[in-house]
Amino acid sequence: MDCIFCKIIKGEIPSTKVYEDEFVYAFEDINPEAPVHVIIVPKEHIESVKALTISHKNLIGHLHLIAAEIARDKNIDETGYRLVTNIGEDGGQSVHHLHYHLLGGRQLQWPPG
Ligand code: 5GP
Ligand code: ZN
Repeated sequence: MDCIFCKIIKGEIPSTKVYEDEFVYAFEDINPEAPVHVIIVPKEHIESVKALTISHKNLIGHLHLIAAEIARDKNIDETGYRLVTNIGEDGGQSVHHLHYHLLGGRQLQWPPG
């Protein structure tokens, strides 16, 4: 399958790894929007939140715990951060492999544009 994030997970495209376990891979965004910008993905190819099924329940909980752990490691736990996932065209999703942006290290604006 021609999926950039599947290739990153397999090591076919280089990335700066932040975290890895059996289910989840996290890496530095190539075009950071904030001092901390980590992409967290399930190793399983899932298109987006809209393709989730009940079988993914534990995986998504696990991924959120990893996100909080990475935020602590990056020292943005006290100041705060954003964990966001884009879905489909209006959501601004450009890579169609479920991923969460972990953003922090500066004051983020809300609402997003
Ligand atoms: P989306 O717009 O789909 O929510 O976010 C995709 C994110 O993946 C973007 O922030 C983009 O910079 C990042 N990205 C796209 N291609 C690559 C890549 O090859 N390597 C890395 N590290 N990040 C990528
Ligand atoms: Zn994929």
